[in-house]
Amino acid sequence: MPINYEDNIYEVIRNRERCINCRVCERQCANLVHKYSAETGEMVSDSMTCVDCQRCVSLCPTKALKIIKNINTYRDNANWSESAIKSLYKQAESGGVLLSSMGTPEPYPVYWDKILINASQVTNPSIDPLREPMETRVSLSRRPQNVERDGEGNIVNTIKNALTLSVPIMFSAMSYGSISYNAHKSLAIAAKKLGIFYNTGEGGLHRDFYEYGANTIVQVASGRFGVYKDYLDAGAAVEIKMGQGAKPGIGGHLPGEKIVDDVSKTRMIPKGTDAISPAPHHDIYSIEDLRQLVFSLKEATNYTKPVIVKIAAVHNIAAIASGIARSGADIIAIDGFRGGTGAAPTRIRDNVGIPVELALACVDTRLREEGIRNDIALVVGGSIRNSADIVKAVALGADAVYIATGALLALGCHLCRSCHLGKCNWGIATQNPELVKRLNPETGSVRLINLVTAWKHEIEEMMGGMGINSIEALRGNRLMLRGIGLTNKELEILGIYHAGE
Ligand code: SF4
Ligand code: SF4
Repeated sequence: MPINYEDNIYEVIRNRERCINCRVCERQCANLVHKYSAETGEMVSDSMTCVDCQRCVSLCPTKALKIIKNINTYRDNANWSESAIKSLYKQAESGGVLLSSMGTPEPYPVYWDKILINASQVTNPSIDPLREPMETRVSLSRRPQNVERDGEGNIVNTIKNALTLSVPIMFSAMSYGSISYNAHKSLAIAAKKLGIFYNTGEGGLHRDFYEYGANTIVQVASGRFGVYKDYLDAGAAVEIKMGQGAKPGIGGHLPGEKIVDDVSKTRMIPKGTDAISPAPHHDIYSIEDLRQLVFSLKEATNYTKPVIVKIAAVHNIAAIASGIARSGADIIAIDGFRGGTGAAPTRIRDNVGIPVELALACVDTRLREEGIRNDIALVVGGSIRNSADIVKAVALGADAVYIATGALLALGCHLCRSCHLGKCNWGIATQNPELVKRLNPETGSVRLINLVTAWKHEIEEMMGGMGINSIEALRGNRLMLRGIGLTNKELEILGIYHAGE
């Protein structure tokens, strides 16, 4: 029996002089923190159920509320932190597995912040992106080793079934069920308008979203929820999910409360039943088996769509990626351990996997050493927070990045890490119709488009600063990066020099 890990350590503070008893906070809080007391004619709060989603604070018209960390504290103990003690108590009481949402909050090194980007100065002039063309388009596919020409010397395009993106950013897998209809619709509209892709995750594709198929990646996960011929045909690419950064090595679990009418139809499972996807694909125990699934999916879609294999960043990722590159897949998506999730066992989320920066660098290096880097495109996700992270990822060897938590933040998420409770006050990670309504898909899509557009401008600025006018020329160009405060081993794995070298 899973139990909620996230502690009730927040306290709601109400400024009585400012509060006008309008009851907005009461209506906005699905966790029933606020209540109007007819007896006193005043609002009262029960901080015990507060998850610090900041909805009431954001919408209070008089800014009368603030949420603070509860200052009650256990005695300092370097080994037994307060959260270690409290979670142990919870498990002693319940016998349950601790459950959390979103990416790990643990203070592991963030390598993006230990890498610096180069800029041109005298001899290799920078380029002004406002006055000169900059190319941010990328095509994700296997590439020919050599340029082919016809009898007249013209280049023959031998690239098949590429996913072409206007900017090297895609919205990562988030299933309908784990997120709301309106959140999915926001992503779909934004992907279409931006000329990029969003991803169904493992929940199938709602019929209403078939019209966005040309900008949709349909996922095939171990539970095979919602997978059938029309679904495969509807997308622009098919992604086989072998692993997820937030919970490598285990399957998925969407609680029955989130399997409401449409979600059950889309997933093709009975209403109210838990959607549990197994840890392994029961037909994949080797690269040869994976190859069979890759080609089954290609066969099922008439060899018209690229196949992506998504894996979690784990210790032997370079060898795994090398096998996948030989499996016939077109794209590898690597998901780092800081990646988000709708629900994951807390101990797995916080202790399993490796940072995507190291995974990306060692995979790119290995594929280059084996001469097969062009046989497959590389997409990374699971911790991309801004445009500089993207520039660094591309220079480390990625063709494009996936963003998910960043996209949810653009939709209003305040990272309260309570998605698994199904009461998202921002209308994102919920199936409660009253809460879902709070997210307007048109507004949501505009915010997503703004975010990606802003990042595109910043990427162009950084490329221009480096004297590079095409994102393709930056891919794997690690000389554009320098490390800061890293050990020799870390620099060796990242394949970059230290700042000053
Ligand atoms: S929303 Fe703000 S002003 Fe309205 S009742 Fe709540 S705390 Fe008071
Ligand atoms: S999606 Fe909603 S529930 Fe999940 S972390 Fe964000 S605000 Fe909290």
